Amino acid sequence: MKQEDYIIEDDYSPQSRFDNLDKVEPEFWKKKKLEEMNKEEWELLCDGCGKCCLNKLEIKGKIKFTNTHCRFLDCQNCLCKIYAHRFEKVPDCRDIDLAAIREKPRWLPKTCAYWLLDNGYDLPSWHPLITGKASSVTAAGMSLQGRNLVNESGIEKYENYIVDWEDL
Ligand code: SF4
Ligand code: SF4
Repeated sequence: MKQEDYIIEDDYSPQSRFDNLDKVEPEFWKKKKLEEMNKEEWELLCDGCGKCCLNKLEIKGKIKFTNTHCRFLDCQNCLCKIYAHRFEKVPDCRDIDLAAIREKPRWLPKTCAYWLLDNGYDLPSWHPLITGKASSVTAAGMSLQGRNLVNESGIEKYENYIVDWEDL
């Protein structure tokens, strides 16, 4: 990848999204449906786990996750390296909208806050909206950080990389 493709600002930190939680309505996710949330609330729901950036296969009507990841995922911090341009550069990169969240078979990990709330569950105790810390996702073992991951570049048979991690 060319250096200029890497557009995460130097001073961006995953924690910055959660530094002003006192300015949002307390526990808004318990009071509003997904379709009622404003953009800021919507963005805060993402825990930054990175698991939606794993490649998947649909086999016999079920989604199988692999441990291969989009070439633009920075596995150190689970950030997209090209966030503002992701849909131009990666045609199958999915926007996390209501249709994507409700799609069947489910392709988002079962820990994904959007999927959880839309299916009547509460946020997990390790979610940054509860803890105030982006790092609590990795501390709980729920992000991709530290896992055995393979860059998708050059992979031919994704079937060889299927994983059955409990949080997928
Ligand atoms: S799986 Fe859900 S919570 Fe995790 S990074 Fe993707 S959208 Fe965010
Ligand atoms: S381009 Fe899409 S799939 Fe790839 S890392 Fe960015 S958000 Fe994830």
